[in-house]
Amino acid sequence: MNNEISTAPTIDGFNQVINALKQHNLFTIFGLVGIPITDLARQAQAKGIRFIGFRHEQHAGNAAAIAGYLTQKPGICLTVSAPGFLNGLTALANATTNCFPMILISGSSEREIVDLQQGDYEEMDQLNAAKPYAKASFRINHIEDIGIGFARAIRAAVSGRPGGVYLDLPAKLLSQTMDAQAAQASLFHLVDPVPRQIPAPDAIDRALALLQQAKRPLIILGKGAAYAQADVAIRELIEKSHIPYLPMSMAKGLLPDTHAQSASAARSYVLAEADVVLLIGARLNWLLSHGKGKTWGKPKQFIQIDISPSEIDSNVAIAAPVIGDVGSCVDALLRGLKPQNFSQSPEWVQSINERKEKNLSKMAQTLTLNPSPMNFHSALGAIKNVLNKRPDILVVNEGANTLDFARSIIDMHQPRKRLDSGTWGIMGIGMGYAIGAAVTTGLPVVAIEGDSAFGFSGMEVETICRYELPIVVIIFNNNGVYNGTDVNPTGGKDVAPTVFVKGARYDKMMEAFGGIGCHATTPQELTEGLEKAIASGKPTLINAVIDEAAGTESGRLTTLNPKTAAAKK
Ligand code: ADP
Ligand code: MG
Repeated sequence: MNNEISTAPTIDGFNQVINALKQHNLFTIFGLVGIPITDLARQAQAKGIRFIGFRHEQHAGNAAAIAGYLTQKPGICLTVSAPGFLNGLTALANATTNCFPMILISGSSEREIVDLQQGDYEEMDQLNAAKPYAKASFRINHIEDIGIGFARAIRAAVSGRPGGVYLDLPAKLLSQTMDAQAAQASLFHLVDPVPRQIPAPDAIDRALALLQQAKRPLIILGKGAAYAQADVAIRELIEKSHIPYLPMSMAKGLLPDTHAQSASAARSYVLAEADVVLLIGARLNWLLSHGKGKTWGKPKQFIQIDISPSEIDSNVAIAAPVIGDVGSCVDALLRGLKPQNFSQSPEWVQSINERKEKNLSKMAQTLTLNPSPMNFHSALGAIKNVLNKRPDILVVNEGANTLDFARSIIDMHQPRKRLDSGTWGIMGIGMGYAIGAAVTTGLPVVAIEGDSAFGFSGMEVETICRYELPIVVIIFNNNGVYNGTDVNPTGGKDVAPTVFVKGARYDKMMEAFGGIGCHATTPQELTEGLEKAIASGKPTLINAVIDEAAGTESGRLTTLNPKTAAAKK
């Protein structure tokens, strides 16, 4: 990589921004060029920064967000003003919601004209528009402040609870010049940008006391635990304490899903029956039924490890809050852990194991059925067998049924390999996350996509082909949103709101840009297509034909869908 810093006697804003990125070892920009930032991208590339150009800013932003999640460094997204900024803002908001560090850098129009609303090209008050959806927002008005501006943006993105930061660069800033030596001196090394946050000893004692007296304890791992990269300590805590654990979706693989203490296959049972639950980097939001109601059955006490003090008591009272970074908190728990004092009942573990065995063998049977056309299970069974042999591969997953089934069927064996719809349950992260993950890790990525979910970012297959990325996109094509069987009750020509073109050949999209298309109608064809794609490392899209009647409305989110919720009552 080219690390040299420009030594011209004067320097312009473009180059000072580039030097600031390099100063902080930020060597990749995900973006989309246009006024006023085209030359920023061009010059960044010339100076050794990798610029990955997208077809829509939302996907560039999603790539930056997932790069942040995987590396603990802010992913950088670069966009043009107003509309480009707004397209990127969706990704910034998603990153903030998921606690991923990223910086959205957008060019902006003349402040004087914007503030008087005199009608500039792409006029918009971007700074204020970003504020409610970002962890922090900054504007740099003077070239002398670029060093400080980047320091603030980076610290805000990565320290404490990570999140999305907006950085506004007015066109005028980029053309400003200053003395090159002074410019160099205004960039500085950040001392301890992600300070450890050590938990208070009394909070640790309180948590351990509660854990010790539990008869039916449970540990829940969230993506905050995965993000923290405290993999060894977390595994040690679980194995030394012998407590069963449940991984949230993106925490799958933190310990291998095949681990003896995983309670995933007995999820409803452990949530309902546990008496003490230790949450590690997981929020009691909708994904955990807000910690109350039928899902949670018997009364219980919570211990919660989180870096954000205000997360505590957000849904239910927390008996033992432990505030700090996951690594420091788990280390502290380990130091005080006395497994010999634990009261976990042997029947608890035994009844979990019985349920697990029953459910796992039922699932194994379902996966071997070979219906024609394929259903979600038979297709995922084929993918599971291939992926079990390649635990290093990253899996991106979105859709409704495709998300729900893949999450429970595809085992993850290594940390931070599963990237999905996350905290919002958002559709549209597919190609952005796949590209961000492939560029960041250099590893193969398999994106398991509902046909509807894929549509949000489908044009990025051109980006995948352009950069020759080792990405395999598998479309679960069941002709529609949820399924393809709805009919228009009026008998009119328009199809029902949930229905797409029947028998669409998504594989041709990848072929259009020089990638490989594959049409799979059986698990056998799917297996062969996937194995070939992984071996070749070439951009591939597999159109997996799924029974159009196989999906259910909203997947498993029946309680959130007013129609199915009413029917359930
Ligand atoms: P999941 O959806 O997997 O349950 P969430 O995104 O809901 O996970 O929760 C992640 C939690 O982890 C957030 O509350 C966040 O504050 C916390 N978190 C993120 N990074 C860290 C860290 N390094 N140390 C401690 N907590 C963290
Ligand atoms: Mg579908």
